[in-house]
Amino acid sequence: MGKKLTKYRKRRDFTKTAEPKGKAKKSAAARGKFALQKHAASRLHFDFRIEIDGVLKSWAIPKGPSLAPATKRLAMLTEDHPMEYGKFEGIIPKGEYGAGTVMLWDFGTFKNLKEESLSSCFKKGRIEIFLKGKRLEGAFALIRFRGVNQWLLIKMRDEFASKKDIVKSELRSAKSGKTMQEIAKGKAA
Ligand code: MN
Repeated sequence: MGKKLTKYRKRRDFTKTAEPKGKAKKSAAARGKFALQKHAASRLHFDFRIEIDGVLKSWAIPKGPSLAPATKRLAMLTEDHPMEYGKFEGIIPKGEYGAGTVMLWDFGTFKNLKEESLSSCFKKGRIEIFLKGKRLEGAFALIRFRGVNQWLLIKMRDEFASKKDIVKSELRSAKSGKTMQEIAKGKAA
């Protein structure tokens, strides 16, 4: 279990960053946890993280999520993060990996829509989940389309699909209600 986070830990100096060091956890719950963070690193992007086998499998999504099924969003697979990361909001110090402001843009739980286990779906490159977050709700698919790392995040058709540009309309943290600028000022959430 611990080996999953090796890459995550190698990239970070925990004496300098407030990000959690974390531990891989055993997951038994029928519902997993998910988090979506807005991250103003060298490039602004969103990080989508879903619980699979005790860690947060993570994808960097340059444009963030879309509620429109016709709009596929590129999602680059990144290193597994510890479960505690799903609550992280704050500043990663200059010079550290991923330096910049992190906003907890959404969080909640999800259900696997497939009969197969999530880890098997992940290996096959096709995940279908139903999200229940503060902002995102409904069925989403993550589909690998090239190599190991290039995936697409796609809203599946259901009553929660919409043309609303949620990335533009929701500019505050789902956790603290703060804007990116307010988080960047460094007051603890
Ligand atoms: Mn990131």
